[in-house]
Amino acid sequence: MERDASCHCGKLQLRCTGEPSKVSLCHCRDCQRRTGSLFSVAAFFPREAVGVAAGEARTFRRPSASGFNVSFHFCPECGSTLWWEPERMPHLVGVAAGSFADPDFPMPAQAVWAEDRHRWLELPPEMPAHARNPVKTATPE
Ligand SMILES: [Zn+2]
Ligand SMILES: [Zn+2]
Repeated sequence: MERDASCHCGKLQLRCTGEPSKVSLCHCRDCQRRTGSLFSVAAFFPREAVGVAAGEARTFRRPSASGFNVSFHFCPECGSTLWWEPERMPHLVGVAAGSFADPDFPMPAQAVWAEDRHRWLELPPEMPAHARNPVKTATPE
């Protein structure tokens, strides 16, 4: 299966092949500020399954709450972050799940940094929630 992720203006597009290795929801305050929303949902794909289909990205790199740097790639025209590369998981690329704009996209398998969850927000009880991030090494989750 192929899915195309697109930024807000449509100039930057990413093609993802196959199913994501993992879909993960993050409540952390960095994700709150990056998205302007209350949480981020990352679809992690193997690096070789992701390719730029259109446009050119700019990059912003910062340390993450887990202690590893993350490089975020965004559209210079509209500012949407489309994908990121976590040094903690160098074989995986995180793609912004919302950029697929697909209501049938798989549900996250977990939520992390639940300690920063906005108090009114309730997630499905079957989704495991971790207070912080359970994996702090470069091993796959
Ligand atoms: Zn754009
Ligand atoms: Zn986060």
